Order: sequence, then structure tokens, then C-alpha cells
Amino acid sequence: MYCVNCGKKIKDNMNICFNCGKNVANSNYFHDLEIKNLPDKFKPISAWGYFGYQLLFAIPIIGWIFLIIFALKEENINLRNFAKSYFCFLLLCIIGYFIFTM
Ligand SMILES: [Zn+2]
Repeated sequence: MYCVNCGKKIKDNMNICFNCGKNVANSNYFHDLEIKNLPDKFKPISAWGYFGYQLLFAIPIIGWIFLIIFALKEENINLRNFAKSYFCFLLLCIIGYFIFTM
């Protein structure tokens, strides 16, 4: 694995980086680095990213067009799945709206 502080390669069973002395026992450090090295297709969306997309999808018509585009695009699996789930949620809302207002 690699030290998150200085980037030096260190043995997997090491708890402390020899180069900078940083404690790397907390596997979250390695985890963060793993996420950064993921291909774009699998990169996670940040909490603020989800929030932003949610706001975008909530815009009538323009947002819904983006929603369908993102639901069909293969660019990022997380974004595609989020768009699909939001699409189902939106469908339920529309159906619910008609059931309760008729
Ligand atoms: Zn280091």
C-alpha cells in the first residue's frame, strides 16, 4: 500500500510510514487512496454530488431530460443507478399524485 501523507510505498503490514512517520494503521487512509485510483466509471459520488443531482432532477422538464440521459449513460455506474432510482421515485410521485387528487 501507499502512505496517504507522502505517497511512499510501504509494506501492507506496516502501521507507521518510515518516510514521514504518519500512522497508517487506520485503513481509511488506504481506502481514500483506493477510491481516488478507481476508474471514472466506478467513482463514487460525494454527498454534495448526490444533493446537486437531486436538485437538478427536481427541475420540471429540463431536469427530467437530464434524468433520462443519466439513467441511460454508461459513464458512471453510481450516477446511472441514482438516476434510475430517482426515475422510479418520480414515477411513484406522479402515480400517487393522480391517485390522491382524482
Ligand atoms: Zn509517509
